[in-house]
Amino acid sequence: MIQHDSHFIDGHWQISHGIDRLEVVNAASEEVMATIPVGDARDANAAVSAARTAFEAWSATPPAERAGYLKRAAEALQLRQTEIATLISQEVGMPFAYSNVVQAGLPVQSFVSIAEMALSYPFEEEVYNSLVVREPIGVVVAITPWNYPLHQIVAKVAPALTAGCTVVLKPSEVAPLNAYVLAEVFAEIGLPPGVFNLVTGTGASVGETLVAHPDVDMVSLTGSTVAGRRIGAVAAQTIKRIALELGGKSPLIVLDDADLVEAVTAGLNGCFLNSGQTCIALTRMIVPRSRLAEVEAIVKAGTESLIVGDPFDPSTVLGPLVSATQRDRVVEYIEKGVAEGARLLTGGPTAPEGLGRGFYVRPTVFSDVTPDMTIVREEIFGPVLVLQAYDGEDEAVRLANDTIFGLNAAVYSESQDRAVAVARRIRAGQVQINDGAFNIHAPFGGYGQSGNGREFGKWGIDEFLETKSMQLP
Ligand code: NAD
Repeated sequence: MIQHDSHFIDGHWQISHGIDRLEVVNAASEEVMATIPVGDARDANAAVSAARTAFEAWSATPPAERAGYLKRAAEALQLRQTEIATLISQEVGMPFAYSNVVQAGLPVQSFVSIAEMALSYPFEEEVYNSLVVREPIGVVVAITPWNYPLHQIVAKVAPALTAGCTVVLKPSEVAPLNAYVLAEVFAEIGLPPGVFNLVTGTGASVGETLVAHPDVDMVSLTGSTVAGRRIGAVAAQTIKRIALELGGKSPLIVLDDADLVEAVTAGLNGCFLNSGQTCIALTRMIVPRSRLAEVEAIVKAGTESLIVGDPFDPSTVLGPLVSATQRDRVVEYIEKGVAEGARLLTGGPTAPEGLGRGFYVRPTVFSDVTPDMTIVREEIFGPVLVLQAYDGEDEAVRLANDTIFGLNAAVYSESQDRAVAVARRIRAGQVQINDGAFNIHAPFGGYGQSGNGREFGKWGIDEFLETKSMQLP
């Protein structure tokens, strides 16, 4: 049992002023695996004050020096990769082999990628008689979710530090243990005090205090659209910049010339990774009506072959959901799908056989859905896929764009040119073409109510900068 009592503020572990503690629960065993402190306004104020004090010196360091800290953080994180993957598999429920690559491996690569980007980033340019300089925006509050917890933290912290900002991190209260490891790493590599601060607790308490704080210049959130709306409203009181990475209901369009087995298999992976608890999950498979029966057969067989179970069993493909709350929410959506008249192709609301303990949900697929159904419109954040049938490419594009979100999409076709032409018509921040792989050097973010910022690559650094022009004689 891990017991944390402190926040990491001004380069030290400081005992929480808030006396409440939150329990972190193991998703597979349902046992309490750790407790963390719920910070209060005094903790939030101390962290902001430390970040403000550290800003002047940190923002003046050369980018290459800042990049050096990031590279050392990557090395130190890599040494703890197995420990991080284990913690996140316990907290979130993702199978260990995937956790090791995605949850613990990607953050290392992201630190390295952003550090390299820092060396070539154009912090200054001349435009006619002006010198245009990009300067760090100041103190950044980073608020992050539980589903890919360390990946989402690094997506903010690495570019913010590179830009010359100082950071106060408020990680998810559901999967916070990896954030303590990151703070330990920053302490170990000698990052100057106050440049990175960690305060834990709930969104409503310490999170909102940080968002409202007048000495904070920017808030970067990855989380639900509900939290994004609230944080946007609170931050607007002091005209802070906000960057929002929110939810999705992402489509995969299978064009009529696609290899069905290839497209559907990729679609199932894209939907069910991390038991569907993925913001870019491809949760709507849009297929030619003339080939619906074939698709249904492949989807049913593919879904029923997925092994659901203990995250530490090497044969497991889907682990449990993160929490009882999330499990109950997903089960309610499945029940609603049935109640609204969708046809259950496979799965359902009952727990998978033999898995009485742990927050498990059966991978579930609906067909015969209509565009107004709740399961077609809302982000479920669980292993639930809907099949939508179309007649003609225009209808496929219309169905894909018929959503308030616009985070991710995929298009499958024999012809890459045809797939790209369709991708250009989709209103989303990312589109995967056939088996095109996730790229941490490319911009990541959403259209519509999926958010308003971009992370990764040089676009991720842009977010944390102000622009000043000096007119020269
Ligand atoms: P959440 O919105 O419940 O919480 C996210 C974070 O916001 C947590 O740290 C929480 O404590 C904090 N928070 C909540 N309300 C707050 C408030 N009023 N003030 C300050 N902080 C507040 O989301 P979650 O359940 O942790 O994560 C799942 C959601 O995140 C899904 O909707 C998913 O799509 C989204 N997500 C988006 C991306 C992306 O990059 N677009 C990536 C991963 C997850």
